[in-house]
Amino acid sequence: MKKHILLRRLTRAAACLLALLLTVTSIGPMRADAAASQLVSVGLYFVKNALPSANLQNVSGYGSGYDIGIYDLDASGDRKQFVWLASTDEIEISMLIDRNMYLSGGSYTETPSGSGVSVGAYHAELAYAYSDYASAAQAAQNYADGFVAWCDGQYRVRFGSYETYREALDAAQYYSDCTATGQTDYGMTVVATQTGRILFELDMDEQTALGIVPSGSGETRTWFKGYQYNGGFRYDRPGGGNMHVASIVPLEQYVASVLSREFVTNWPDETLKAASCCIRSFVSTASKHQTFDVCNDTCCQVYRGVYQYSPWDRLVSLCQQTAGQQILYQGAPILAVYHSSNGGATVSASEAWHTDIPYLQGRYDPFEAQVNTGSKDWQRTLSYDELTRLANAWGFDCTRITAVAVTGYTELGNVAAVTFTDQSGRTHTFTDEDTLLFGGEFYSRRYVILPPHSSQTVTDVTGGAAAAGGAAEAYGGPYAVYDGSSTTTVPQLYAVTAAGTEVLAGSAAVLGAGAGTGGEYPAPELTTRTVVNDSDYYMIYGSGWGHNVGLSAYGAYAMGLQGYSYQDILKFYYQGVSIG
Ligand SMILES: [Zn+2]
Repeated sequence: MKKHILLRRLTRAAACLLALLLTVTSIGPMRADAAASQLVSVGLYFVKNALPSANLQNVSGYGSGYDIGIYDLDASGDRKQFVWLASTDEIEISMLIDRNMYLSGGSYTETPSGSGVSVGAYHAELAYAYSDYASAAQAAQNYADGFVAWCDGQYRVRFGSYETYREALDAAQYYSDCTATGQTDYGMTVVATQTGRILFELDMDEQTALGIVPSGSGETRTWFKGYQYNGGFRYDRPGGGNMHVASIVPLEQYVASVLSREFVTNWPDETLKAASCCIRSFVSTASKHQTFDVCNDTCCQVYRGVYQYSPWDRLVSLCQQTAGQQILYQGAPILAVYHSSNGGATVSASEAWHTDIPYLQGRYDPFEAQVNTGSKDWQRTLSYDELTRLANAWGFDCTRITAVAVTGYTELGNVAAVTFTDQSGRTHTFTDEDTLLFGGEFYSRRYVILPPHSSQTVTDVTGGAAAAGGAAEAYGGPYAVYDGSSTTTVPQLYAVTAAGTEVLAGSAAVLGAGAGTGGEYPAPELTTRTVVNDSDYYMIYGSGWGHNVGLSAYGAYAMGLQGYSYQDILKFYYQGVSIG
C-alpha cells in the first residue's frame, strides 16, 4: 500500500523535482525559513480544485469555536501571521465566497435550489466604522441578522442577507445612514453551517487572506472534508474566483502527518526519526507550490492532517525528539528526496537529472535485502501492441514497436537508457528519469528487459545483515539473538532491571553493542542469478519501487531494525551530510 503512495510521489513528481533542482543551487542557510517560523502553509484545495464553500467543525474535545481574522505576511514572505479580528462560539462554520449561496446536502453551492437562497450576498450596511470588534458586535445586536464585517481595514456593521441589491436597499431605507452592499470579487462570508446565520464577513482586496483558527486550550483539531487538522485554515480568492484553502500547521505536526502517510507507522524509532529529518529538509528546500510552502499531495509530500489512529502519539513524540533538525550539506538544508525501495542500488542526481548534487550519489544498498520490501521481484509482460501504445504515449511517434532493450546502465547496474525500435527501423531512446517510463510503468530504475523466449542474468545486492551485536530479524519478534558465536531464535525479549523483568516490545529489539554505529557500513555482496521469459511477450523484470535517488524507505527500515541511529541511516543515503 505504502509503496503505491511512494511511487506516485516519485514518478508524477518528475516535473516537480526538476523545478526543485532549478532552485537548489540558490539554497542557502537563510532558506530554512519554514523551520524558523515553525509554521507550514500546505495547499489543500486550489486552482482547479478551488472551493466555493468550505465547512469546518471542531473535533470533540479538541477546541470549541473559532477565532476569525486574516493571515498576514510573516518574515518568510508567506501569509502565516494570524491577526485576530473576531470570534465565534459556533462549532460548525462554513466559509463562502461572496455570492448568493444555497445549502444542499450539508454544503453551500452557487447552484440555486428550490427552497430559495440560503445566504444572500446583499446586505444593508451602516455608515459608521467601529474602533474595535466588541463595539461593532454590540451594535450589530441591534439589528435582525446583524453581523460584523471587516471592510477595507475597518470594522463595519451589516445586517440582512438578501438575494438582490434591490431587497437590501429596501431594508436599508428604514434606517438613517444606512446603505446597501453587494457581492464582491474577493469577499468571503463566515456562516453557521446549519442555519446560514452570518457570523462575519471579510471584504478586502485580493491580497488579504481570511484566517480561521480554532479556539481552545491545549491541542486543537478541526474536521475538514473527512480529515482532522491541527492549526488554522487560510482562505483567499486569487483572481476573484473560488477559494484556495491552506492548512497553516505547526512544523512538527506537519512532519508527523507526512510520516504517517509516506512511511509505515510501526517502523522502528530511528527509521522514522531519519524520515522526519527528510520531511523537514524537503519543506525547507521546496520551491513554493502556488502560494503555499508545499501542497498536500504526491507532488510535494502527502499530508492529510492528524493520523486518526493510535500511532499518532508515537509519531508526534518521535518528531519532538528530532524537532527542527534538518539534513545539512555545508550548512544548508539538502534536497532530501526519498523513494520506497531501490532494489539494490541508488542512482546519483547527475545520472537521474543531469545535475551534480554531491550528497546524492549512487551506492549499493546492502540493507534492503534484509527486509520484505514488497517489490523485490516484480515483472511485467508487455505485448507489442502495448509497447507501441506506451511508446507513443511517451512521445515516440511510431507505427509499431518491434523491439525494446536496455541500452545503457549506470555504474551500479541501474537503467540509464532504454531504446525502442519500430517496424520501419526508427529508434527512440529514453534516458534518465524517463527510463521509469510512462508515469512509473516500469516501477523503478533497476530492471532488465527480456525479449520473448529468452533469459538474462540479474545481480542481487545483499551483505547488510547485522554483523555485530544482536538484531531483530523481524519487527515485533521472533528475535534472532546473536551471542558472539551463534544465533538462537526467541519469541520475546526481556529486560532485566533493578525493578524486575519486563517484556521488550516494538523497537526495543536491539541487543549488545548494536550494529553499525559510528558510520561503519557493511560491504555489499553481489550475487547473480538467471531469470527466464518463456512467454511470447516482452518481459520487464526488476526490483525496487520509485526513482532510486536518495533515501530508500525500506532500506532505512532495515537499518532501523539493525540498530543504526537515525544519523547513520541518513549519512548512508546522503553522502557527506551532517544533521542539525
Ligand atoms: Zn506540490
